[in-house]
Amino acid sequence: MQDQYGREIDYLRISVTDRCNFRCKYCMPAEGVEPMCHSEIMTYEEILWLCRISVRLGIRKIKITGGEPLVRRDVCRLIKRICQIPEIESVTITTNGLLLKQYLPELEAAGVSGINISLDTLDRERFLQITRRDDFEKVWDGIREAVKSKIPVKINCIPMRGWNEDELEKIAGLAKWYPVMVRFIEMMPIGMGVEQAGIFQDEIKARLSERYGTMIPVNENLGNGPASYYQLPGFQGRVGFISAVSHEFCDTCNRIRLTADGILKSCLNYESQINIKEKMRNGIADQELEKILRDAIYRKPKCHAFGDVSKKEQQEKRRMVGIGG
Ligand code: SAM
Ligand code: SF4
Repeated sequence: MQDQYGREIDYLRISVTDRCNFRCKYCMPAEGVEPMCHSEIMTYEEILWLCRISVRLGIRKIKITGGEPLVRRDVCRLIKRICQIPEIESVTITTNGLLLKQYLPELEAAGVSGINISLDTLDRERFLQITRRDDFEKVWDGIREAVKSKIPVKINCIPMRGWNEDELEKIAGLAKWYPVMVRFIEMMPIGMGVEQAGIFQDEIKARLSERYGTMIPVNENLGNGPASYYQLPGFQGRVGFISAVSHEFCDTCNRIRLTADGILKSCLNYESQINIKEKMRNGIADQELEKILRDAIYRKPKCHAFGDVSKKEQQEKRRMVGIGG
């Protein structure tokens, strides 16, 4: 369905857990965060119920995220069941890659239609500094296996001043050597991201053009959302940018979000009071649930307000690990 600004909303991001096996600097403190109580987390039956209602409103694409979604037990079973909902066109997952090699056969069997893997560096020591885990090799193994599979792979990298700024060309080059999309995602001032200095799209584009040659914009729809993609000479895959800060794309935003504890969010940037889980557990009827979803979609904010201090009170206080990206 369309929201009040005429945007077609067809994409639901579902966070299935607040737990994670990494501690990325821009997402989680070193000591981790107090985990939600298990009873706070949406059950698979509740998530499926919500998916079945959301397809009535035109949701066609689902992203499974977290925390780290592969740490939740039987997540492939959930994915399989979502894939079985006839109206759903794609179910994709966003993972840090640590458990990917192990779960790849199950993900394939479940019918997942795309895997996004977060990777901010190709250097083992830096990987340890950024994620606070010495697991680069395992993630890299997971990426290699995924690339060999038939599932389309996207590598998501957050460019950060002082952390990975000197290897962005090399990371983009993964799309030259492998048939993958490499996407640079601008650091957003959410949670611990507030303390980090990101690098904007225009600077990266200029560097990539200098290194690899002319970047030709690709107009076909290559994903679920507002990334802009480019073809580079001799590249098998494409390079993309998701630049919420420097190239605000809210007028093409097509998504809503469900947090692991069942809060429905119609914009990443704003705090939401819509506790869907509570309503479900209080025995809400399907029609009423549909109405809540419809209202939330319709009232989706026009655009984010990153950096606008006058809207500080309404802005999201959760960390990204609690939202799902
Ligand atoms: N653990 C999985 C992963 O890392 O892919 C899924 C959850 S993670 C929260 C989803 C995405 O959010 C990751 O690609 C991560 O890099 C990104 N992310 C986390 N904090 C961010 C921030 N402040 N700004 C932009 N992206 C962020
Ligand atoms: Fe975990 Fe993903 Fe956050 Fe890193 S970005 S701490 S992998 S949830």
